Amino acid sequence: MPVQATEPVEYHLAIGDTRVPLNGLLGQQVRIEFGGVIRCIHCDRTTRKSFNQGYCYPCFRRLAACDSCIVSPEKCHFHLGTCREPAWGEAHCMVEHVVYLANSSGLKVGITRASQVPTRWIDQGAIEAIPMLRVASRYLAGLVEVACKSHVADRTNWRAMLKGAVPELDLPTERTRLLSLIADDLDALRRSHGEDAIRPVSEDGRALRYPVQVWPDRIKTHNLDKTLEVEGVLEGIKGQYLILDTGVLNVRKFTGYEVRFRAGPR
Ligand SMILES: [Zn+2]
Repeated sequence: MPVQATEPVEYHLAIGDTRVPLNGLLGQQVRIEFGGVIRCIHCDRTTRKSFNQGYCYPCFRRLAACDSCIVSPEKCHFHLGTCREPAWGEAHCMVEHVVYLANSSGLKVGITRASQVPTRWIDQGAIEAIPMLRVASRYLAGLVEVACKSHVADRTNWRAMLKGAVPELDLPTERTRLLSLIADDLDALRRSHGEDAIRPVSEDGRALRYPVQVWPDRIKTHNLDKTLEVEGVLEGIKGQYLILDTGVLNVRKFTGYEVRFRAGPR
């Protein structure tokens, strides 16, 4: 679901080569029909099942993007010479990363490639986020994140995120607090990886607003694997979710699914 960080966040749904603007469809009846065909987002071959949100099984087994170190960056094994695709690793992992704090369903720490700010924050439905450190690689970002995990969550409670009413936090203060809590860990990492490899930043945070008319009070999820046709009034979009009056749909989860999309007045 390609997005642009405007006020509020501007969403599009990518259907084949078409990008359907979604914000203008709020309040309208939408219908998503899955025809049963899933195409791998890497090699385009059809696959009975989607792995890692859009890949066929061979790609899932072969691509660096699908390796377990992507979910657990502290397990990056590029330095051991065992990266599945070293050129991909050079471009995506051995580049500057940002360790950030976000408020998606409460305070959380996260990491992302510098170029993925603020896309990553929007993906998680953060209402606010702030950079904390800039680090030399994905691996190092993972090690910093591990140090943070004993003090702060690293996951979003997506149900709480979708209910709206997420209390505001003072992220600059949280950043100062967390940096002092992990100061010893950072010193140790700098000793082994170099002084410049981990740089504190004083960048401002960013608030994000989402196009939502009605917050759901009970969260029911739609699943295209079980129900081929999903229909309802589009009441909002937040993170990777379409919020319909009939339930929420995690669009990211169904990447690669061939669907027909229709919208019209109720
Ligand atoms: Zn494939």
